Amino acid sequence: MTPHIVVLGSTNMDLVAYVERAPRRGETVTGRAFRTFPGGKGANQAVAAARAGATVSMIGAVGTDGFGGRLRAALEHSGVDTDLLRTVEGASGTAHIVVDDEGGNAIVVVPGANAALTGLTHGDEALITCADLLLLQLETPLDGVLAAARYARDHGVRTVLTPAPAQSLPPELLDAVDLLVANEHEAAALTGATDPRTAAHKLLDQVPDVVVTLGAEGCLYATRGAEPVTVPAPRVTAVDTTGAGDTFVGALAAALGEGRPLPSALAWASSAAALSVGRPGAAASMPYRTEIDAEAEARA
Ligand code: ATP
Repeated sequence: MTPHIVVLGSTNMDLVAYVERAPRRGETVTGRAFRTFPGGKGANQAVAAARAGATVSMIGAVGTDGFGGRLRAALEHSGVDTDLLRTVEGASGTAHIVVDDEGGNAIVVVPGANAALTGLTHGDEALITCADLLLLQLETPLDGVLAAARYARDHGVRTVLTPAPAQSLPPELLDAVDLLVANEHEAAALTGATDPRTAAHKLLDQVPDVVVTLGAEGCLYATRGAEPVTVPAPRVTAVDTTGAGDTFVGALAAALGEGRPLPSALAWASSAAALSVGRPGAAASMPYRTEIDAEAEARA
C-alpha cells in the first residue's frame, strides 16, 4: 500500500551561487553562476518522499512575494498535496547558498513566511491523525514542531526528526520522536560529542532509533540494546551535495512507510542520496522511485 507521509516544515527559495571556493569573512569572490531552486528542508523532504513513491501532504507557509507561487507550484509539480500550505503576508523563506568546486556548501536561511508556523490548525491535526509517518525539521518555529510531535505521539503516528539547523533541543521534543536522523554537526550540537558513535549512544537515552549521516562515508545506525552499525554510501562523483540529507530522509520515510525494516530502508535511502549528489540543485536533483530501484539493484 502507498504510505501517506505528512511533512511539517519549511519552504524556501534557494538562491545559489557557484564559486571556486567559498569567501572567507570580509572577502569577496567572483562566482561563476547563479541559479534559483525551490527548496527548504521541509519542502525538500516532501518532494524526495513523493518522488520515492509516497503520498505526501505538506504543512507549511509561503509568502505573498514572487517566490510564494513558485514554491507552491514546485511542490504540486512533484505531486505533493498543498491544501494545508498557508499563504501569509510578506516574504517567503529564502536560503542563500554558496556551492564550491568540491561540491561542498555553506548556507544562510532567512525564515520569512516559515515563522508563521507556530502551531497546528484542526486541519493539520486531522491530517496527522491519518498519516503513516510525520517528518519534522527545525527550520520552522520550535513551538509548532513540538505541537506536531506531541500530537503524533498521542495518536500513534511514527515521527522522524531531522534536527537541522543544528542546535540543542528541549528534552520534551526528543522524547516525542521515534527516529532521529542527524548529520555529524547536528549530532554534535545535540550531545556535545564530536565522535558520531558517542553522540549516537547519548541520543539513544531519549530516542529509540538514531541515524547519524556521514556524507560520502554513508551513515551510522543505532538502536537501543545493539551496537551501532555503519551503512556505507555508494561511491559517486559529487557534483552538488545540497539536499543530500533531505533526499536521504525523504526516501527513508517512503521506505519505512511501506513497512521496510530500518536497515533495508537505510540502504535504499543511501542509493537515493547518492543519485542526488551526482546532479546540481537540491529538490531538482532528487531521484524518482524507478531510478532509486535501479541504482539500489545495481549496487546490490
Ligand atoms: P546536506 O546538508 O548536504 O543536504 P547533510 O549534511 O544533511 O547533507 P550528509 O551526511 O552530508 O547530510 O549526507 C546525507 C547522506 O547523503 C549520506 O548519509 C549519504 O548516504 C549521502 N551522501 C552525501 N554525500 C555523499 C557523497 N559524496 N557520495 C555518496 N553519498 C553521499
